[in-house]
Formats: sequence, C-alpha cells, structure tokens
Amino acid sequence: MDTPRISRDQLLVRVKACGICGSDVHIYEWTPSYSWLTKLMPIVPGHEFAGEIVEKGQDCVELNVGQRVTCMPFVPCGICEFCQKGRPMICESMFGGDGIVGLHHNGALAEFVAVPEASAFFYRRTSHSSLEHWPSLSRSQPTLWSAQAWRSEAKR
Ligand SMILES: [Zn+2]
Ligand SMILES: [Zn+2]
Repeated sequence: MDTPRISRDQLLVRVKACGICGSDVHIYEWTPSYSWLTKLMPIVPGHEFAGEIVEKGQDCVELNVGQRVTCMPFVPCGICEFCQKGRPMICESMFGGDGIVGLHHNGALAEFVAVPEASAFFYRRTSHSSLEHWPSLSRSQPTLWSAQAWRSEAKR
C-alpha cells in the first residue's frame, strides 16, 4: 500500500498497535447497517490505534515527529451542543465534517495512517504504558476527559 499523503493539518503516524473495534467486525461481516460504506470502498479500517509521528503538515504546531500518539478518530466541531457540554465524543459532526478515520478515510490497520493533529493525543511514556495498550486509550482518554468535565460541571 502507498504511504498516505498528509495535508497541512495532518500527522503521518507509523502504526505500532491497532485494536479491532466492534464496528470493524461489522465491516468485515458486512452487516446491513454498514452498507452506506459501499460508496467509500475500498477503505482500510482501524480507528483505535497508537503509533509514532513520522511526519507532520506545515500547519501542525502542537505535536512533533518522534512523539507517540493516539487519537480520537474524528475532529469534534467544538461548537455543537455536545461539544459545548464537554462531550466531544458524541459531537453532532461525527458523521459530517471531515469524517472518521477508518470509516470515511483509510484507517490504521496499515503501516501508516494520516490523522488530523487536532484529534491526536500525546502520551508520555511511563513504565506501565506499553504501546500495545495504547489503542484502548484512544477510547478511554475521551471518556476520562468527559468524566472530568462532568465532574467539574456537577460541582458548579
Ligand atoms: Zn470503535
Ligand atoms: Zn461538536
């Protein structure tokens, strides 16, 4: 497969680990609710992953080559009701906007994946964080983030 070409606001990530989500199984089994993907085929699935940045677009300013990242598979809009309430993982634009990595764009069940910098998370390496465990962080990080947001909201 060709290495993905990144746009100005994207990172090229060398995939180190990729989980297989229930939705990937639905794609594999081609269950009827996923037939909307027909027009996007062929597509590389994989949206729960971790890896190392090997290249970055010229507009990327937060993260750098060599850093290890995981990501939300889409860029939350930041302005819809859910984003405003600190629940970006159910952003109204999830199925709009630029789409979802591994569904609307080629995903991470490949050597490289292109992801928007705006949706990437950088993790410091610790003794108990092996990269093989990171794909689960791509889902748990937004969950923890939301739990924290709800907590602080509840205190107000
Ligand atoms: Zn998933
Ligand atoms: Zn939103």
